[in-house]
Amino acid sequence: MWVAAFVLAVFFVGWMIGTEAERELQRGARQTGERWVQVANLTVPDLPLALSGRGVTPAAREQLQRLTGGGVFRFKLFDAAGRRVLLSDDLARPGALPPPSDVDGIGDQGQGGTKLEIRNRVLAGQVHSDIIRNAGRDAVSGRPTVYSETYVPLIVAGKVQGVVEAYTDQADPADSLRLAIGRVLASALLMLLVLLAIAAYRFRVRTRQARSAQARVRYMANHDALSGALNRASFTQVLEKAAWRRAEGGPSFSLLCIDLDRFKEVNDSMGHAAGDEVLRLATQRLRDAVREGDNVARLGGDEFAILLTGVASVEAVTPLAQRVVETLAQPFDLGDQRVRCGGSVGIAIHGVDATDPDELLGKADLALYRAKANGRGTFSFYDVAMDRQMQARRELTKDLRGAIADNQLALHYQPLYGSDGLSLTGYEALLRWQNPRLGNVPPVEFIPLAEETGLIDSIGQWVLQRACLDAATWPAPLTVAVNLSAAQFATGDLVGTVSRALAEAGLDAHRLELEITESLLMNNTDEVLATLRALAAMGVPIAMDDFGTGYSSLAYLWRFPFDKVKIDRAFTHNLGHDAKVGLIVRSIISLAHSLDIRVNAEGVETASQMAALQGHGCDELQGFLLGRPGPALGLTHLGRVLPDSALARLPARGSLFAELELGIPHTRPSPLS
Ligand code: C2E
Ligand code: MG
Ligand code: MG
Repeated sequence: MWVAAFVLAVFFVGWMIGTEAERELQRGARQTGERWVQVANLTVPDLPLALSGRGVTPAAREQLQRLTGGGVFRFKLFDAAGRRVLLSDDLARPGALPPPSDVDGIGDQGQGGTKLEIRNRVLAGQVHSDIIRNAGRDAVSGRPTVYSETYVPLIVAGKVQGVVEAYTDQADPADSLRLAIGRVLASALLMLLVLLAIAAYRFRVRTRQARSAQARVRYMANHDALSGALNRASFTQVLEKAAWRRAEGGPSFSLLCIDLDRFKEVNDSMGHAAGDEVLRLATQRLRDAVREGDNVARLGGDEFAILLTGVASVEAVTPLAQRVVETLAQPFDLGDQRVRCGGSVGIAIHGVDATDPDELLGKADLALYRAKANGRGTFSFYDVAMDRQMQARRELTKDLRGAIADNQLALHYQPLYGSDGLSLTGYEALLRWQNPRLGNVPPVEFIPLAEETGLIDSIGQWVLQRACLDAATWPAPLTVAVNLSAAQFATGDLVGTVSRALAEAGLDAHRLELEITESLLMNNTDEVLATLRALAAMGVPIAMDDFGTGYSSLAYLWRFPFDKVKIDRAFTHNLGHDAKVGLIVRSIISLAHSLDIRVNAEGVETASQMAALQGHGCDELQGFLLGRPGPALGLTHLGRVLPDSALARLPARGSLFAELELGIPHTRPSPLS
């Protein structure tokens, strides 16, 4: 824009200079013409006579001839009526001068007005000058390339006596002017060129910078900053484009959803830097596992997706999925450490499972969910049964959201007895959900759902409050055991919730017991440990539920200072069937006792099971034989409550939480009656 303005300005200046130069030439011509006339008037005798056309005296002829040449190389004389009376060319010719011509020759060139206007002006006493460029095609030979014809009226006593048309040579001044203008224009043009070059250079640099910035922004908008893989937004676009292309006859494709199995553990135990490195390495492995042209994306966290182009059958996808699972199963080298993370893969095939990109992604995700449920480190294809199951889950989740508000949840209490099977020590609170659509939904079905959806926080809070309120109405020292989910440790303020529930109910902390499972300890983090310690410090006993079902139960016994372990009912059930089970149960009990941990046996259904457990020295019995879970209102606490005096006789139990400065001493359940 400003370049255009500059060009215009240069042209304008050029035009101005040109016009001014023209004026300068005219001025010069006039001056020369006027001076010539003055000199002629002074030196030519009888000039007025010559001008009147009545004849030129020899003296006048001689002087006029002398004046021809130099500045004025030719002239014409006109009388006061505009008739030409003399032409300088004739002076040089020998003999008499030709008579005056009738030709009215003033203003022939007609610059700056019509011939008549010029003639009238000149005859009225004004000087008029025309510049003639003689270098054109019709150049008049013998005349300079540039000259001027100046009409100078000779005025005597205020009256025009006649007119002299003086031809002035202007070639030299015109040349120097042209040269000067040329120089000015050339400099301006040069400046313009320099400016243009600078502008072009800056424009190029700026465009290049803008282009690379744009490319950077585009890259960042489309890629995950950590791993360099496509991000969710751009992967969605890729997926949509692939579906569109397929509809137009393009290649078929499949979608893989991938999740790293133990990423959270790595991240929690080794820190975020290690976690980031695992994500980067995993991305690279995924890229290496697929072919050129397949798209690898990180959808977020440890979730990845791959679009496999041209592959759309179970047979074709299987080897690729297998390769992905295998490559992720290899340990990751993190400098001085090696970690195994593993990954699970869910697969949906476009055109078979779904055509809509969103639906396809949802189905690959469902398949991934099943792969994880199948034990991780595997791949799974989407199928319809899976969908139905998920649909049911979705509906159940929707129902569960309203369950607390709609009073559909209730606590049932199952009695816990001392080893005699007679002395009631307390109850375990077991959650019941009366769903208006499905009837009674067992906790094993809805608790995992609540954990996944985060609803466990509010449900767990409600359970704690309700259990404490109910227990506060029971005779002391009956206890209430509440089950806790691992998920409750991960979010929310569990310690606060427990202490508020106790305070609101006015229940002693040692009358509440919290049951945790191994799954919580498997993700053993500092936060979990700190929460357990804080709960124990409040005086709340901690029990390990379903003991013996995990892989490393024994290890947890010495790592965590439990007050009680609850032997899983699978052991109780098999007591009579397999002699080895009896040995295991006996060992667990003796091991726990040597660590000063009480033992509860769950699922006591028969008298022989009870007798066996009693024989092994089990401290607490729980099961349908002794009492089924029932609503709070139906509890009678029938005559089985140990008197406080009996408890008082028991020796104080050396608490494993001693170093945690527990306020309330623990006591063993009553001995065999
Ligand atoms: P759990 O904590 O091991 O609870 C004992 C389960 O065994 C209860 O099942 C109980 O009804 C059942 N049971 C008791 N005695 C016998 C018996 O003699 N034979 C048989 N076959 N079963 C017996 P329920 O009520 O279905 O609870 C299942 C699980 O759901 C519980 O196992 C517990 O892990 C979980 N759960 C229950 N309520 C809650 C809760 O409020 N919060 C959390 N986080 N989990 C809960
Ligand atoms: Mg339990
Ligand atoms: Mg249990």
